[in-house]
Amino acid sequence: MKHIVTLIPGDGIGPEICQAMCRVVEATGVDIEWETAPAGAHLMDEYGTPLPQSTIEAVAKNGVAIKGPVTTPVGTGFRSVNVALRKALDLYVNLRPAFSLPGTGARYSDVDLVIVRENTEDLYAGIEFEQGSEQAARLIDFVGASGAGVIKPDSGISIKPISISGSERIVRYAFDYAVKQGRGKVTAVHKANIMKHSDGLFLRVARDVAAQYEGRVAFEDRIVDACCMGLVQNPGNFDVLVLPNLYGDIVSDLCAGLVGGLGIAPGANIGDGCAVFEAVHGSAPLHAGKDDANPTAIILSACMMLQHLGEMDAAARILAAVRDVLGRGEQVTYDIRRIQTGSVEGAVGTQAYADALIRSMEG
Ligand code: NAD
Repeated sequence: MKHIVTLIPGDGIGPEICQAMCRVVEATGVDIEWETAPAGAHLMDEYGTPLPQSTIEAVAKNGVAIKGPVTTPVGTGFRSVNVALRKALDLYVNLRPAFSLPGTGARYSDVDLVIVRENTEDLYAGIEFEQGSEQAARLIDFVGASGAGVIKPDSGISIKPISISGSERIVRYAFDYAVKQGRGKVTAVHKANIMKHSDGLFLRVARDVAAQYEGRVAFEDRIVDACCMGLVQNPGNFDVLVLPNLYGDIVSDLCAGLVGGLGIAPGANIGDGCAVFEAVHGSAPLHAGKDDANPTAIILSACMMLQHLGEMDAAARILAAVRDVLGRGEQVTYDIRRIQTGSVEGAVGTQAYADALIRSMEG
């Protein structure tokens, strides 16, 4: 079956790692037509935005996209291409698996967990009031008059909205994902003991949803600080974690650190009609055009995309090749080489690493 996928190469190292990813995916024999759509800081002059409307429409039309990283222009007022795409397409799930790979120098060799982060609410909603502004002053007056507490007059304020509907759909996604992937437990992570009306609501909804999966998927909840300690001490205790936006952001990077860092961390932003797959790392501008960046994260994101498209065999073959090449430790990019030997001597480039993966799949 032929799949049409929107390819957003992005900027910085994006185009090179995407090229390597496309070559590896095509080597599986899967029938994919890439429809390239632009995004990136280099479009500012022509379009006045790093994310043209035509790119959003292309993703909406095809329903599946894979995206290279994009630089967030500083001082333009544009928050980020990722945030804008998530908002425009209501991609409410940020899915980030963290699993051990050989040869990465990671602290643990048996991690296999999945972060399900809520992507649209919480302190990331972008509702902020600048210190000294008239709006901040009015809000401070309102809070004082309500009797809820006192905010110092020289405060800046960020709002943390968490809704029943937003919590319900993310927790349900986590449980459905656990059922589909044969995973045994979902952990809801929160700080409900302190933030009773936002995290407390999230936890209450999580318990209600969990009751509907009783007997199929186990459920527990953890306070976020204790959860972080537990993850560092014994990541094997965790399976699927579901978190509000801010904790999800922080804990998913912590989990990437458990398995070898951002260079090998895949991810996806998923909504009801669309899924955008992308590496977790940024555009690494200092490495752009040097053919030395590690394409593993975007290649593993492509594995998630292939699974989403039902191409399980192709995804499994790529994953096996990544394990094989990293495990042998001979044909690896500079970042992995440095972990292995303390020096970048003997590292191979982006495309040579992709060649090694393709040879591994063919052999
Ligand atoms: P970064 O992830 O680009 O780089 C952090 C460090 O990791 C750097 O030392 C970089 O060289 C290295 N690195 C990252 N990816 C690598 C790879 N594939 N192979 C080898 N080394 C790699 O983070 P940053 O420097 O904070 O951000 C740079 C730009 O990227 C910023 O404009 C930021 O806004 C943007 N960004 C975009 C995304 C995205 O599009 N998904 C995500 C994060 C950051």
